[in-house]
Amino acid sequence: MIDRRPSMIVRCTSAADVVHCLRFIHQHGLPFSIRGGGHNIAGNAVCEDGLMIDLSLMKDVHIDPERQHGSVEPGCTLADFDAAAQAYGLATPLGINSTTGVAGLTLGGGFGWLSRKYGMTIDNLLSMEVITADGQQLHASESENADLFWGLRGGGGNFGIVTRFEYQLHPVGPNVLCGLIVFPFDQAKAVITQFARFTETMPDELNVWMITRQAPPLPFLPEEVHGKEIVALAMCYAGDPAEGERHITPLREFGTAYGEHIGVQPYTDWQQAFDPLLTPGARNYWKTHNFSTLDEGPIDAIIEYASALPSSQCEIFIGTIGGQTRRALPDAMAYSNRDANYVLNVHARWETTAEDAHCIAWAREFFTRSQPFASSGAYVNFLTGDESDRVAFAYGASYERLAKLKKKFDPANIFRINQNIRPA
Ligand SMILES: Cc1cc2nc3c(=O)[nH]c(=O)nc-3n(C[C@H](O)[C@H](O)[C@H](O)COP(=O)(O)OP(=O)(O)OC[C@H]3O[C@@H](n4cnc5c(N)ncnc54)[C@H](O)[C@@H]3O)c2cc1C
Repeated sequence: MIDRRPSMIVRCTSAADVVHCLRFIHQHGLPFSIRGGGHNIAGNAVCEDGLMIDLSLMKDVHIDPERQHGSVEPGCTLADFDAAAQAYGLATPLGINSTTGVAGLTLGGGFGWLSRKYGMTIDNLLSMEVITADGQQLHASESENADLFWGLRGGGGNFGIVTRFEYQLHPVGPNVLCGLIVFPFDQAKAVITQFARFTETMPDELNVWMITRQAPPLPFLPEEVHGKEIVALAMCYAGDPAEGERHITPLREFGTAYGEHIGVQPYTDWQQAFDPLLTPGARNYWKTHNFSTLDEGPIDAIIEYASALPSSQCEIFIGTIGGQTRRALPDAMAYSNRDANYVLNVHARWETTAEDAHCIAWAREFFTRSQPFASSGAYVNFLTGDESDRVAFAYGASYERLAKLKKKFDPANIFRINQNIRPA
């Protein structure tokens, strides 16, 4: 779906290579894009006619088990980072698909199964090595270049190219209680309403997400359910599995399930559990809202649009955050949406160009229908390519400060193939 042709792709293996790229760009006045994991739906990792700075070979991960710190290069996927940290029974909050790049995910905010317990990915970021527009290599942390550090924690690729991230790690697993319960779609109203109320008071260790789509051919579901509309609750408990078992018991009473697959398994396996749904080459179009609460309005909108899924891969999901993600102050860093408890994402995903118009229209209509119930801001990492008009809204109160910071660090806006913040 992203059909752009860079004139040149530089596959960097060091920060020095990145500095060379920036020098070359300045010399020749070239547009350029930055590729971390290459996962972003907007396709901003790829540029037309310019230079693509590909960081995907920079995959060094160093774990310091004593200090519980992880130092990670920007070509790492979540799978690379999780595997290295879990070798010591450690982890930091990342996303839920292991093929996602650590770099782009972190720079936009980052959240996943561990976020209610340990916060957004950026809440666990200790420092970064950054190359700014003028080719300087800077260290950014709370005590060094603190303004840049503030902007990089949510500001995406707007301020420089990050060549190393340092994270706080936490003891996790290595085995965790996790899994899925799958309910028939005709119970959607009861299940989603109970999910909404349950998630308001569940402990921080527990995270439960809601997905409505057609059932994939999961082995624990009867064959006649495959391809039918369902409501699934996916969960993970970041603590003692026996305690977790007690906390998830009420979820089973939300309806009469088609089936469930819940158990204790390696955290790294759960991090990869949803990867098979991401069929290579599929076409994608996403829209997103934040919600502080999920009342009847958005629940009815979800049910209405999930009753008319335009392809077998389309889904509407609610990623639950809250807990520790709400405890930082809204102005502590560029990501400011601390009142969000839920991130709703409509994933239109399909196979052929003939379906483009229909699937995109479905996602847009659902977005408009659910908009009146949304809270402020939006998650920049879920914006698509045609939403440049939503960037200021996405950042909310941070935007003005970000625009000033952009003027300081990138006055010519050379970092612009991204969810762009214009220099003040
Ligand atoms: C299937 C799927 C599941 C997802 N699940 C989650 C989830 O659970 N939680 C979550 O928080 N997000 C999730 N995301 C969103 C994800 O965080 C973003 O797509 C993110 O941008 C991916 O990062 P990347 O490095 O792979 O992307 P890329 O496409 O390589 O990069 C995206 C942008 O980030 C910037 N960038 C990347 N690397 C650098 C760098 N080193 N220095 C400066 N700028 C850089 C560039 O502007 C680039 O255009 C998901 C995305 C997908 C497609």
